Amino acid sequence: MPKPSLPPGTMLEKYRGEVPSWDSPDTDEVYEAFFEPVKPRDNPEFQQALAASTDKRFREYLRQLNLPKNRNKKCSTIAKVMDISLAEFIDFLRTSYRAQAMSVAAMRLPEITTHMANDALTQKEACGRCDGWGFVNVTAEELPPLEDGQPIPGGVRPMGARWVRDCPKCGATGQTSKPGDSHARDKILQLNGFDKKSGGVTVAINNYGGNGIEAAGARFAALTFDISADSAESEVIQIDSDERGHAGGDGSVEADAD
Ligand SMILES: [Zn+2]
Repeated sequence: MPKPSLPPGTMLEKYRGEVPSWDSPDTDEVYEAFFEPVKPRDNPEFQQALAASTDKRFREYLRQLNLPKNRNKKCSTIAKVMDISLAEFIDFLRTSYRAQAMSVAAMRLPEITTHMANDALTQKEACGRCDGWGFVNVTAEELPPLEDGQPIPGGVRPMGARWVRDCPKCGATGQTSKPGDSHARDKILQLNGFDKKSGGVTVAINNYGGNGIEAAGARFAALTFDISADSAESEVIQIDSDERGHAGGDGSVEADAD
């Protein structure tokens, strides 16, 4: 196909069509306006994104941008030399912002998981019956005035001018248990391979001996949960036993755990 002849100082850009060429004295105002808020020469994050690009044109753009001889060249001019269209640079910026957002989110993951794991735990809350006091009033209907010498019913005690008894709901602790957040529980369990579909997990245990905290830590670290297990039943396999190993003969978790 014959190349269409272009006016001098112009070039064809995909989508935008005829634009000033890289060696034209005219500035591509639209392209240059794109770089205005980005400030590529003073933007370390942007430069880092350029350096990490899988497209060598963007990596070369970074190199050219920082060359002393190009100090006074317009950012859009260098982009054109590298054959990068405005549309491609807009797309690049969008992608790099998305990657930045993802890395910010990834940095927060341990903290979020910690909070989520805490949410998943059973929580204590003030008893709804006694409002956290641990005792409830005994009403006059429940305990009419006592006759002289009549014994005080078991569990009832005077408190000032009234009678009280231990709260029957919380057992005088003032607190009741509330199940952890079910959504958080599902997520934490899924995260650890307890998938609803697969049901069971395979637990492999190395038999580390000793009763100390180190041995316990080693045993815990050696627990692996095979999420690919499709068995509905949990299965326990004892792999081996070191020479310090104690008992643990029947291969069950109980025999090995202290
Ligand atoms: Zn209570």
